[in-house]
Amino acid sequence: MSPNKAAFIYSDKLSQHILSTSHPMQPKRLAMTYDLLKQYNAFNQNNANVIPPRKATRNELIKFHTKDYIDAIENMSNNPNTISAALYNLGTADNPCYPQMFEVALLSTGGSALAADLLISSEYDSVFNISGGLHHAMRSNASGFCVFNDPVIAIEKFLEQKMKIAYIDIDCHHGDGVQEAFYDRDDVLTISIHESGAFLFPGTGNTNEIGTGKGRGYSINVPLYPYTYDELYKDTFKKIVPPLIEFFQPDVLVTQMGIDSHFQDPITHLSLTVQGFTEILKIFKSFNLKWLSLGGGGYNLKAVARAWASGWGVISNQTLQNDIPINFNQTHNISSLFDISPPKITDDIKNVCKKFVDKNISTLEKDLKAIYSINFD
Ligand SMILES: [Zn+2]
Repeated sequence: MSPNKAAFIYSDKLSQHILSTSHPMQPKRLAMTYDLLKQYNAFNQNNANVIPPRKATRNELIKFHTKDYIDAIENMSNNPNTISAALYNLGTADNPCYPQMFEVALLSTGGSALAADLLISSEYDSVFNISGGLHHAMRSNASGFCVFNDPVIAIEKFLEQKMKIAYIDIDCHHGDGVQEAFYDRDDVLTISIHESGAFLFPGTGNTNEIGTGKGRGYSINVPLYPYTYDELYKDTFKKIVPPLIEFFQPDVLVTQMGIDSHFQDPITHLSLTVQGFTEILKIFKSFNLKWLSLGGGGYNLKAVARAWASGWGVISNQTLQNDIPINFNQTHNISSLFDISPPKITDDIKNVCKKFVDKNISTLEKDLKAIYSINFD
């Protein structure tokens, strides 16, 4: 195996559908990301390959989802107007039924399952499935634009190998579906850093959601105040995540890398830049673990393409120049990979953000110290 061999899971089949004409989740963002990386020649090296996804199998899906739910998704793909959709939280503005729903959900979930296979077999050290990260899907219902929960399905595959998994979710929204799936386990550490549920869907993800039974202390939540910016985000991440990784000693890292935390995202309120996001990914990389990266939210298409392209640079050890390749620039009118004009956050707002997160970190530290030895200095 060559050192740091990385795979990028993608096929056009993942990006041709439309959820609804007004839906913020636009699968063409995946095609944009792929196109940008192609124009960077970021797949031409021996250690940076594109691999098409496969469909998830029923055996894989049933590890988390109910048979009734899987059957219902298949049926509703064929008959989008079925009245039973509401039983599964489908047929809503957030979670519409659309004709290719089952096939696309199988492919994005299968992409994450395949990624887990490639890491388990040590064929690859890092795999990025930009179509994955659908962290809100529940056992028997859709939620938050998510049908099947591919992070959970992938983690189940690692668990079958008796591996310990650290799941770190940096999407702007709380990773509620993944947290719930492993809430009582001590071999899956879930960490979600997100805009506070007081301001944003799904409303959960408070520091007191800490796990149950032997899983107590293995669900970690760090809510952030709206407008939280690069510097504070990075400081928070560095306080919380490396000590927990050091304590937990995982065999594999699974990261959900939604970029709806970007300051230009139309449906959320954090203030990250592409360069801030990239810095966080470099910390993931520094853990030197088998690494499954997943996409997630991200509703400003240009920000998604830039952030995940930059992310693939980190994952596959390539330096992408800041100047966007000329053809992509001409088509999409984007000149720079990193943000040129980060948002200006006033000192007053910075103070509010910092006080909010400092309080949450100290509460979390106090609660965890009652369970195991940890310091967030
Ligand atoms: Zn999100």
